[in-house]
Amino acid sequence: MSEKILAVKGMNDILPAGLPRKEKLPDSALWRWFETTVQTVLSRHGYQYLMTPIVEPTALFVRGIGEATDIVEKEMYSWTDAMNGDRLTLRPEITAGIVRAMVEHNALYNGPLRVWGIGPVFRHERPQKGRYRQFHQLDVEALGFAGPDVDAELILLVRQLWQALGLKVGDGSDCHVRLELNSLGQPAERAAHRAALITYFEAHAEQLDEDARRRLHSNPLRILDSKNPAMQALVEAAPKLQAHLGDASKAHLAAVCQVLDAAGLPYRINPRLVRGLDYYNLTVFEWITEQLGSQGTVCGGGRYDGLFEQLGGKPTPAIGFGLGIERLLLLLQELGVPVPGAQADAYAVIPDVAALPQAMVVIDRLRAAGVSVLMHAGGGSFKSQFKKADASGARHALVFGADELAQGMVAVKPLREGGGAQRLLPLDGASGWAAELLAGTGQPA
Ligand code: ATP
Ligand code: MG
Repeated sequence: MSEKILAVKGMNDILPAGLPRKEKLPDSALWRWFETTVQTVLSRHGYQYLMTPIVEPTALFVRGIGEATDIVEKEMYSWTDAMNGDRLTLRPEITAGIVRAMVEHNALYNGPLRVWGIGPVFRHERPQKGRYRQFHQLDVEALGFAGPDVDAELILLVRQLWQALGLKVGDGSDCHVRLELNSLGQPAERAAHRAALITYFEAHAEQLDEDARRRLHSNPLRILDSKNPAMQALVEAAPKLQAHLGDASKAHLAAVCQVLDAAGLPYRINPRLVRGLDYYNLTVFEWITEQLGSQGTVCGGGRYDGLFEQLGGKPTPAIGFGLGIERLLLLLQELGVPVPGAQADAYAVIPDVAALPQAMVVIDRLRAAGVSVLMHAGGGSFKSQFKKADASGARHALVFGADELAQGMVAVKPLREGGGAQRLLPLDGASGWAAELLAGTGQPA
């Protein structure tokens, strides 16, 4: 046998449920359910699906995300195309590509757009739980809207998504996700704050770690995002941007908060919330969970009114967020949130090969009527097939036994507690009783 070839470190397979694996990762049933839920919630809010390439010119991210950010400094997979010398990068996030596409196609010509995309992104980070080198983001963007109305709409949209996924939203200890908000103001306000930060950190230069010292003049705001425990006290006491915000910036945040208050969504204003990308202004937010250890940010976003211009477009206000799908699904998995539709409605037991053609016609009709049927393939005794039916998690066993078939019937045995008694149902009228197999699944009968 030749040597096995393994996946690239930090890049994972998304496998069906129940398979043994080296690392705790969300399974594909959870994944698919997330995608369909997202689709429903987003179309309810008027968002349209869009797809951009995974590979983009490196310059897009250097200019868009900012040179002195973790992502551009050390996390990008970049290379030179051997054919033509182009500098290319595997996208480390989705927003910059979407904005590039909008500018390239002059897509906002007829007015603002709400769009969303989903797919893999790549960052060369140290792999650990909740941190991978290929991970997936849901990306939602409201383009051409100045807010604050749409800022609040976007945040409420995320709450609807959490609720649809069975998560408890709020600020209490029994809640699964909570919201943090901040305003990054406008460029001039940030410049004033930046100057104050540099003065402050210069005065405490001996307490800065290597990263912070390097950032002191290139991107001092990022020092506030430091995860180094030794610097927390210093960061805590640093000058706050709030002190430099003008009336318009304050009013923008207040208007967002008013809607959230009215909608009963609790939040914390976190003056240290700065986000890891340079393009943000005004409203920024993160959704945080306490249940995943240190990788607790499941969703982060904000307004980026300057990005279109930076990427060669007309000035265009916009806001969006990126949601880390692996982190979110790990959370759902750890909480044991049940995945609807993950288990079949019925498992077909066919002990007698002679019964196969008749049985398969019935199974085919049931499936056409919307019933999910797992058919036992490959033969075997009644006992061994029935064992498989039980282990499959299906809600019913359909037994196509010789005795039943002789009467023109199939036996339907409930496999779960409270499923009622075993019954014989006619082979001929399968589409008539198909709905009974669906009952209680929440699907339309
Ligand atoms: P962090 O502070 O955890 O590094 P970030 O600020 O770099 O996060 P964003 O660029 O805002 O993250 O990306 C949006 C979301 O993507 C994050 O909130 C998180 O849920 C997820 N995410 C970021 N990096 C990774 C990673 N390496 N692996 C898995 N998920 C990630
Ligand atoms: Mg990061």
